[in-house]
Amino acid sequence: MVRYVYPFEEGDGKNKMLLGGKGANLAEMTQFGLNVPPGFTITTEACLAYLEHNRLPQGLLEEVHAAMREVERKSGKTFGSTSDPLLISVRSGSAMSMPGMMDTILNLGLNPETLQGLIAHTGNPRFGYDSWRRFIQLFGKIAMGVSDERFDEAMSAVKKRVGAEQDVDLSAEDLKALADDYLKIIKQETGEEFPLEPYTQLEYAIAAVFRSWMGKRAVDYRRQFKITKDMANGTAVNICTMVFGNMGNDSATGVGFTRNPATGENVTFGEYLVNAQGEDVVAGIRTPQPISRMAEEMPDLHRQLIELRDKLEAHYHEVQDFEFTIERGRLYALQTRNGKMNARAMVVTSVEMEKEGLITREQALLRVNPALLEQLMVPTLVTDGKIAALAQGLPASPGAASGKVVFDADTAEARGKTGEKLILVREETKPEDIHGFFAAQGILTSRGGKTSHAAVVARGMGKPCVSGCDAIHIDVRAKKAQIGAVTLSEGDVITIDGSSGKVYPGRIPTVEAEFFEELKTLLGWADEVARLKVFANADTPRDAERARRFGAKGVGLCRTERMFNDTARLPIVQEMILAETLGERQAALDRLLPIQRSDFIGIFNAMEGLPVTVRLLDPPIHEFLPTASQLEFEIEHLRGLKRALRNMHELPETLKMLDPELHKQYVDSLDNLEANLAEYQNENRFDGLIDRREAMLQKVRALTEVNPMLGHRGVRLGLTHPEIYAMQLRAIVEAAAQCMLDRVDIHVEVMIPQVCTSQELIRVKAQLDAELARIEKMRGLRPQIAFGSMIEVVRACMRAASLAETAEFFSFGTNDLTQATFSFSREDAENKFLPFYQENRILRENPFEVLDLKGVGRLMEMAVRWGRETRPNLKVGICGEQGGQPDSVRFCHAIGLNYVSCSAPRVPIARLAAAQAKLREAEYDPKILL
Ligand code: PEP
Ligand code: MG
Repeated sequence: MVRYVYPFEEGDGKNKMLLGGKGANLAEMTQFGLNVPPGFTITTEACLAYLEHNRLPQGLLEEVHAAMREVERKSGKTFGSTSDPLLISVRSGSAMSMPGMMDTILNLGLNPETLQGLIAHTGNPRFGYDSWRRFIQLFGKIAMGVSDERFDEAMSAVKKRVGAEQDVDLSAEDLKALADDYLKIIKQETGEEFPLEPYTQLEYAIAAVFRSWMGKRAVDYRRQFKITKDMANGTAVNICTMVFGNMGNDSATGVGFTRNPATGENVTFGEYLVNAQGEDVVAGIRTPQPISRMAEEMPDLHRQLIELRDKLEAHYHEVQDFEFTIERGRLYALQTRNGKMNARAMVVTSVEMEKEGLITREQALLRVNPALLEQLMVPTLVTDGKIAALAQGLPASPGAASGKVVFDADTAEARGKTGEKLILVREETKPEDIHGFFAAQGILTSRGGKTSHAAVVARGMGKPCVSGCDAIHIDVRAKKAQIGAVTLSEGDVITIDGSSGKVYPGRIPTVEAEFFEELKTLLGWADEVARLKVFANADTPRDAERARRFGAKGVGLCRTERMFNDTARLPIVQEMILAETLGERQAALDRLLPIQRSDFIGIFNAMEGLPVTVRLLDPPIHEFLPTASQLEFEIEHLRGLKRALRNMHELPETLKMLDPELHKQYVDSLDNLEANLAEYQNENRFDGLIDRREAMLQKVRALTEVNPMLGHRGVRLGLTHPEIYAMQLRAIVEAAAQCMLDRVDIHVEVMIPQVCTSQELIRVKAQLDAELARIEKMRGLRPQIAFGSMIEVVRACMRAASLAETAEFFSFGTNDLTQATFSFSREDAENKFLPFYQENRILRENPFEVLDLKGVGRLMEMAVRWGRETRPNLKVGICGEQGGQPDSVRFCHAIGLNYVSCSAPRVPIARLAAAQAKLREAEYDPKILL
């Protein structure tokens, strides 16, 4: 017989799959001696059984009844009692934390009779009616499907009627009337009576929480965060004795972090509200007090809270995000989980906890999700202090973002799809707004604290958020917000700074993040551990300097064609392409040579002491020319101008005959124009311009290929036009020689793109050797230049053993290799069919983002093995976009690559991922390729 129910005293705190994270932690906290109210957990297996058969599994209710009797015994209260009733909370909780995505019901067990017992026992009618109306609302919404708006309207109506500002201003009588209104609303909306029998309520509630696993927001959340069934399957239900933070001024409720989740600072951080229940804090209905304030307001409780915090950290060796309630001076722990922090706080706490001896260095490295570091590479605002902020809110999630204001999540989703940058502006957010978070660049709310829903969700996503910005008055219907004298309409641009809490009008420029000390320390540790080196893809000296600042240990790919795209250089490149004779082409190349040479000298200097891999020209040359349709348009336009000019001169004669007065006016107006047009009087000038474009058009047509990506590019172009590579090789060799003369420590490598056969390598190698011999003869020095091959063509993988005879190193170009392996165009797939493939799970990941291990990865693994059979010390790396993606880095480590090379902002991510790959290498499953 399957067991579905585990009291907190018996549950296995490690079994989150079965008990959910919350249930497992409640069990663990109970078992290591924290003051947790009595309760039990119904397993995720019960949830799956419910979802499969659409009814509670057999035997579950009997187990629940037995467990409830135990809870009654431990709490000394009776469920359904009319003198001192036991009330319970019914909370969801799966193996993965999904804050606010599933449902929870509080105060269950109340009905008009038990309510009288509660009032009699507490002597507090206001508290009794407040609990009752809260329960009706939650139960009505979650178990009976009545929308919140109906209850909110009733609440507003009562407040208005009695002139109350906040719900705490309502009297017991007001709340009693409100509860009656709520019951009527439920009857109207559902046609059903509200269930009064406590066990019936419990049965409804368990089923409702189970169903919330398949609710839209939970499903969306799992899809967005790629939570698979192996990570969390179904929700558990936690049934726990209610303790009340709303029993008067010696009661409170709050949420805390054992350290500051925005900065990592080692101080208890959080918020609490006196005389309130849990959801008041999270929903941002009243703005709560910071925990630091508790030390003055409730010193004894503050001491208890710090004690709780210390016990939690000492036990979990991890920053905890906990919920607590104080009922009449007694502190209860209601929940704990590992704290979700932004990247900065993760890094700071890792380094500090290592220094405090709470975790080891390995744990510190493994604790930070490398992908999170991207947040630290996010831009911050550049303000000279002159732009006045429109308003100041709470800095709830750091980073800065600009975008057009939208007031609801649906609009955000719709406009976001067209690529607009948006800021979602709400009074407060609720879990159903989640799709708006995905679409927006940042979130701004007028209510709620730093632990409000908006703040927590935005931090988790690494999006900037300003919360509790009460200067903003939002009218959702009119799609307008008022801040002082300023009115914001939908579509107006604002900037928010989640690090300072400021809101600015318009768009403000941003600057890149700087490395802070703890990040440097952590990445330093990472470099000590990692076997894989991390290089950067950098095409200019400026890029190279930046890459070095981010900790790159070399340039793994310098795409020389990027240097050609400069506006001053492009005309020379075009001249080279359009040249009719070899002599003309050589003349253009001779002009490019010094430019390339100085580029290389710049990069070699910037990377002094570290390797720089220069790749010879790769793309087809038509990429440097305008498109045929662009040229056709220009030619037509020039012809039109030429005609207009001719007409302008003919028109006066015609006008003179027809209308002498009009003719006079026209001639006068032409006087000025004529002066300006003098230059163009000569039609030949137009002809010259037109001829040049026509020649270019002809060339473009001649170069047109049906499949340019598979066409005349890379080494194929290099071999058919050897003068181009000759110029590039000369520039590299001369730059290297110059650096040697300048005593710059250089490590230059030349790499050939698109190679498919060793003959290609042999021929370019001969060109390099000739250049080296030439410089040796001229200057008496011979730079050491390693020679290698891109491996980005399927055949190159298959011929790796042969290529390694000439190539001293390989670098996987996984952009092209992925294209070639899948036959997916790297230019089009991502905005054509790949999203469909991913949504429909035909492919789990976008292979251009995350290395496809089973296909591309397998080719790589073979190529490395075969290459090293020929040349055991063959150096192998990757320079495709996947090179900075943590899972791909892990794979590269596993198959024995020497380095990964990625864009500069991803270098820190790859450094940490490389260390983690090493630390976790024993766990790596070699079957991953099968
Ligand atoms: C590649 O193909 O992965 C690569 C690095 O080269 P490029 O993106 O320039 O084609
Ligand atoms: Mg390529």
